[in-house]
Amino acid sequence: MRKVSIFGATGSVGMSTLDLIQRDPDSYQVVALTAHSDVAGLAAAARQSNAAVAVIGDEAHYEALKDALRGSGTEAAAGEGALVDAAGAGADWSMAAIVGCAGLRPTMAALKAGGTVALANKESLVSAGALMMDAVGASGATLLPVDSEHNAIFQCLAGSRLEDVARITLTASGGPFRTRSREEMRGITPAQAVAHPNWSMGAKISVDSATMMNKGLELIEAAHLFPVGLDRIEILVHPQSVIHSMVEYRDRSTLAQLGSPDMRIPIAHALAWPDRIATPCQPLDLARIGRLDFEAPDEGRFPALRLTRQAAEAGGAAPAILNAANEVAVAAFLKGAIGFLDIAMIVEDVLNRYSAPVPRRIDDVLEADAQARNMAAQVMERLTA
Ligand code: NAD
Ligand code: MG
Repeated sequence: MRKVSIFGATGSVGMSTLDLIQRDPDSYQVVALTAHSDVAGLAAAARQSNAAVAVIGDEAHYEALKDALRGSGTEAAAGEGALVDAAGAGADWSMAAIVGCAGLRPTMAALKAGGTVALANKESLVSAGALMMDAVGASGATLLPVDSEHNAIFQCLAGSRLEDVARITLTASGGPFRTRSREEMRGITPAQAVAHPNWSMGAKISVDSATMMNKGLELIEAAHLFPVGLDRIEILVHPQSVIHSMVEYRDRSTLAQLGSPDMRIPIAHALAWPDRIATPCQPLDLARIGRLDFEAPDEGRFPALRLTRQAAEAGGAAPAILNAANEVAVAAFLKGAIGFLDIAMIVEDVLNRYSAPVPRRIDDVLEADAQARNMAAQVMERLTA
């Protein structure tokens, strides 16, 4: 029996992880499940999986969680401290699937505990990449990428030496507005932005896919996970999302990983690694798909691509600042407070106005994150005044 915990259990990735675990209940013992405020979803998942503890991030929901868990045998806990404690609660395998920099402390705690951490929460790696990779080295934790592109790269690397890698190609669907002009993007609504053509995902990452900020965050994520140098990581638009990424070696041999666009495939890879398990996912039917298309990314229409590469090159606190500004702007867009094109504009404004020293500790990252959020709120106030 493997002891597993899922951070962000009520989300898209969290529920896909639970789905796989519940198909083979004899192999897993669920230690901790967490959510931010979805008490009903968390309690249902905890009852179904016999979790030892369920943690609600927002303490205001503690009593409601206790009520919902009464008689279940699952212990209730609440607050950020409890999230961090749950990360050290003895799981062999943890899924880090909280969205945003809110996942940073729990993810770091899971890494410091030294088990296997399956990482979906890209924002924590973007914000604190160097410190996080140091923590992996210090504790001997195993960090397995779940983001489909990074999971693909991990599979294509198959233990090869990074010195032999000539180029990593991150594929991108291009999102729902791949062919739209800037003018056509201006009036895009939240409902249009979250309707991704290939993947079903949480709201924040869906908007990030539409602005292509997601691919930019993934560039930074890849640079930490696979340190071949930023100049060896490129982005290629591939609308069908069948090839999840590629690695070209110096002998000019290129390996690609393919599969249906279903997150349960990379999650299953991380769950079973170094073995393999069966999934209920669709087999790839290339004859039906018929063709695979590719095009160069367009930084003019998708400025997030340019901003993320700039932040990656600047390093230090810049990626944390970029990420925080983006989180604030995306939340405002989803509430209808700003327009679609404002998102990248706000991020650029914050990046230009605010810089912070190179973070030495997680607290430094969170300080830069908080300052950048304030700055983004100010920029938005001027925008909507
Ligand atoms: P989601 O919005 O569906 O779920 C987010 C989860 O995080 C929920 O369980 C929520 O309760 C929890 N959460 C949110 N705010 C929190 C807070 N402040 N404190 C504690 N918990 C909080 O998101 P998702 O689509 O599942 O994405 C999760 C992460 O995985 C993101 O970082 C995303 O970029 C990454 N990811 C997702 C997909 C996908 O297909 N959905 C693919 C690749 C990577
Ligand atoms: Mg991805």
